[in-house]
Amino acid sequence: MNEEKLKKVMIQTLGCQMNVYDSERMADMLFLLGYEPTDSPWKADLVIVNTCAIREKAEQKVFSSVGRLCAIKQRRPRMKIAVAGCVAQQQAEKLSARFEGVDLILGTRVIHKLPDHVKALENGESRITDVEMPDSGGLSEENCPPAAQDYRRRPGGVSRYVTIMRGCDNFCSYCVVPYVRGRENSRPPGRIVEEVRGLVSAGAGEVVLLGQNVNSYGKKEKLCSFAELLEQVNDVEGVERIRFVTSHPRDLSDELAAAFSGVKKLCNHLHLPVQSGADPVLKRMNRKYTRDAYLERIEKLRSVSPDIAVTTDVIVGFPGETRQDFEMTLDLLEQVGFDTLFAFEYSDRPRAPARKFDSKVGQEEKNARLKQLLQTQEKITRRIHESLVGRTMNVLVEGYSRHGRSPRKQESGGCVEMTGRTSENRIVNFEINPDQGLVQPEDLIGKTAPVEIIRACANSLKGKMPVEESAVLYTSKGGKIHAA
Ligand code: SF4
Repeated sequence: MNEEKLKKVMIQTLGCQMNVYDSERMADMLFLLGYEPTDSPWKADLVIVNTCAIREKAEQKVFSSVGRLCAIKQRRPRMKIAVAGCVAQQQAEKLSARFEGVDLILGTRVIHKLPDHVKALENGESRITDVEMPDSGGLSEENCPPAAQDYRRRPGGVSRYVTIMRGCDNFCSYCVVPYVRGRENSRPPGRIVEEVRGLVSAGAGEVVLLGQNVNSYGKKEKLCSFAELLEQVNDVEGVERIRFVTSHPRDLSDELAAAFSGVKKLCNHLHLPVQSGADPVLKRMNRKYTRDAYLERIEKLRSVSPDIAVTTDVIVGFPGETRQDFEMTLDLLEQVGFDTLFAFEYSDRPRAPARKFDSKVGQEEKNARLKQLLQTQEKITRRIHESLVGRTMNVLVEGYSRHGRSPRKQESGGCVEMTGRTSENRIVNFEINPDQGLVQPEDLIGKTAPVEIIRACANSLKGKMPVEESAVLYTSKGGKIHAA
């Protein structure tokens, strides 16, 4: 492709991993139309905001972002603006009425039509809104990613996302996903395995399988179970680690729990959103499990894999949540010993049934509960991190840490700081000195290396590579190659 003719696209991604994955697919499709990525709206011919509607704050962020882009467009009238994702699906009319500068509004289930719509805009069409939600009864071929050679340009480095299913049939009372992403549909296992192969050939060491509720993968379409899919991905040569998100506690089967010991490449980490530790709240949330049932699942998992790291999501201030309910949640954090959590204050969402619930918790109380929850979790995380000091853990190296290449680091004896994750998804930052060792930092990226944990920090671990090990380069298969 002639470099001079390349147009530029900026994709701004808000929200969850599903959106990150969708943005990668959009970049793939636009590349075939002659677009290359840029980070600046001042250079872009096309800007796409891929949006999130899960919380009120996230939605407000979308509106301010689109407002800023429309202001830029007044000075660059040829630039096209597209809004995609959950807010586009849910608020198409509002976006259309409020922002004259928006050229394309694209729903969550019609991403594959992006190239056609962009071509139409290039040919002079003025405004396109496509928020159709076809119930495909399984993801159609055009919803699947393009040919394998395109994986090479996908950003994301060592760890890559693969969507295995879309939508959700659970209808938790606070959630907009079933309305904005539609009903649950699973992709055929063959397509998933093919995509994993493509990503591995482009350098991925780890794949993260994505779905709103991976435990019910394939059930509706009678494909295979999620545990069987894990086996198939495990068999792909070159895959070193497999992760997945998100699981619904109600559907966590014994077969899946057993996969944590039986599927060799599956990481020793499970994200299992609990949302609340109080039964009355779980009932109003329509979560369809109790606190005891959740704890039984954790017990089952730990009988299979005693060291498994469990992380979770919690909503504070759900309508009707009493102080006592909240304290049950704090108690549950201690009882399970979560590695970490994502915590959110409840906010009303359009169409979600909980918006009509009474006994709303006041803003000040929600702030106080969130603060207390995070402080409680901080102590638990620190305790877990401290228990790991002195251990040597295998770290999949992702690249330089945030401060890894700072001038201060380079002045202090030529050390650079690398970052990576353990199988339990704990972040480990560790220094190596390229002047002393035989291994260069770049050689480590994408490889698994043993790192000794020397300090516990609030959100990460600090480590060092044993001297004798730093002269050795680890292959992604765990074997060793001497660098000299
Ligand atoms: S399981 Fe509940 S919270 Fe998760 S996406 Fe489905 S409806 Fe939303």
